[in-house]
Amino acid sequence: MSVFDHPEFDHHEALHFFDEPKCGLRAVIAVHSTALGPGAGGCRRWTYASDRDAITDVLRLSRGMTYKNAVAGLPFGGGKAVILATDAAPKSQALFRALGRAVDSLGGRYVTAEDVGINVDDMRIVREVTPYVSGLPKTDNSAGGDPSPWTADGVYLGMRAAAKARLGKGTLEGLRIAVQGVGSVGLHLCKLLRDAGATVIVADVNRENLRRATQLDGVRHVSPRDILFADVDILAPCALGNILNSESIPRIRAKVVAGAANNQLSTERDGERLAQHGILYAPDYVINAGGIISVAREFLGQSSEEEVRREIDHIPERLSDIFREAEASGRPTNKIADELARRIVAEAGGKA
Ligand code: NAD
Repeated sequence: MSVFDHPEFDHHEALHFFDEPKCGLRAVIAVHSTALGPGAGGCRRWTYASDRDAITDVLRLSRGMTYKNAVAGLPFGGGKAVILATDAAPKSQALFRALGRAVDSLGGRYVTAEDVGINVDDMRIVREVTPYVSGLPKTDNSAGGDPSPWTADGVYLGMRAAAKARLGKGTLEGLRIAVQGVGSVGLHLCKLLRDAGATVIVADVNRENLRRATQLDGVRHVSPRDILFADVDILAPCALGNILNSESIPRIRAKVVAGAANNQLSTERDGERLAQHGILYAPDYVINAGGIISVAREFLGQSSEEEVRREIDHIPERLSDIFREAEASGRPTNKIADELARRIVAEAGGKA
């Protein structure tokens, strides 16, 4: 099949392949839209079952970034990078310098940062080679650094808006919340939820990450197989995408899905399915925009932490507007959000 016919291609502006065997780099960078500005989105390092899976992932993630940046009001388009991880090519300085060269070769059409499997130190190496990188170690009160705590903050605030809309609760105190994946974002989120007086249940396939989370007072764990179907009020997916589908949705007992993971819905139709099951879905790219807000402000320069905080404070009101429109129109929240994002991109002359 031609890549242009790929079901997720969606008129991407460009798809770039990089192969530097000496450095262990095999990567794909997708630029979905630059209508609003350079494509900005993190780089993921993951072991994919096939090249096709990697391409599917990067295409979906990069379109998601177009929508995320548009709805967050940022002057950036959508792009994303994936590194195809193998045992033979572990993380190394050479690998991240090669990634930096790849990003640099696009001349600023794509700006990279952290995503799953990548941390601030990795981005520091990328910065040696290219200026088109953000999420770098920070030294003062300026915006920037690891975006994960900001993402967790936005998810926490958005979750409160969703709890209010669906459960009629003004706070998360006393609510039972399941967090799938307690990596960078999930762990921060657990701390916020625990401090808010929620009962937190977690699961992770990584033992060390699970141990860190369950060391927090009152946080208990269940098996990764059971977390989506736990008897809770809110489910917070904070691992990988494609977890909300025709098989999982009928078994979900939570009344709200509000988490950080990108591409939580397997297909657009799954948003409708959630609504039919009485589950309020907080569109992933709206609720998890905290990290990219920090990354974007860091890249543009001259922003403080307070300004990032103020922008993240808009996430709950954006979600509340989407929830209200969904309720009034009887349409699923994911469709309302997608239409909003496409409208913003189209107004900027883009074809999304
Ligand atoms: P991370 O790699 O630090 O954490 C992900 C965690 O999920 C890991 O601990 C991993 O072991 C776990 N996991 C993977 N598969 C699992 C499974 N089947 N069951 C349970 N746990 C599983 O990544 P992160 O930065 O915390 O990001 C988490 C999600 O949020 C990703 O989908 C990412 O794209 C999205 N996101 C992250 C940010 C950010 O600022 N880091 C911003 C927006 C969106």
